Amino acid sequence: MTFRTHMDAALDEAKSAATRGEVPVGAVVVSPTGEVIATAGNRTRELNDPTAHAEILAIRAACEALGQERLTGHDLYVTLEPCPMCASAISNARIARLYYGAADPKSGGVAQGPRIFAQPQCHHAPEVYDGLSAQASEELLKTFFAAKRQG
Ligand SMILES: [Zn+2]
Repeated sequence: MTFRTHMDAALDEAKSAATRGEVPVGAVVVSPTGEVIATAGNRTRELNDPTAHAEILAIRAACEALGQERLTGHDLYVTLEPCPMCASAISNARIARLYYGAADPKSGGVAQGPRIFAQPQCHHAPEVYDGLSAQASEELLKTFFAAKRQG
């Protein structure tokens, strides 16, 4: 099977989040057969919910769509390195492969900070591929926060 990235769809979700005034992060859940099950962008402001990160919403939507509590064998694409909360959710969901874009030195929990998947208390670690469309993801975030500072 040839590799097909779904990072473009994640970037589209990130852009939509920005237009809603949300931090531009987008996520996509893909089935083992390559089917897109769920897409989501940040909605913390809209939902008044600090846990409404793109990854959490995408995982929830995918589980609901499939009627199951885990996403064994599924892949998650996200434009930014997941925070510790989302990394834990990704582990609990049994995501097989995590693809992410930009590194997040401020809030990331995968390659830096708590490095959730490397902890002995983490019972499932996905394969991790970073740096996919990292520049596009970073640009979105930079533009968003620059505009916010001006406004
Ligand atoms: Zn998060």
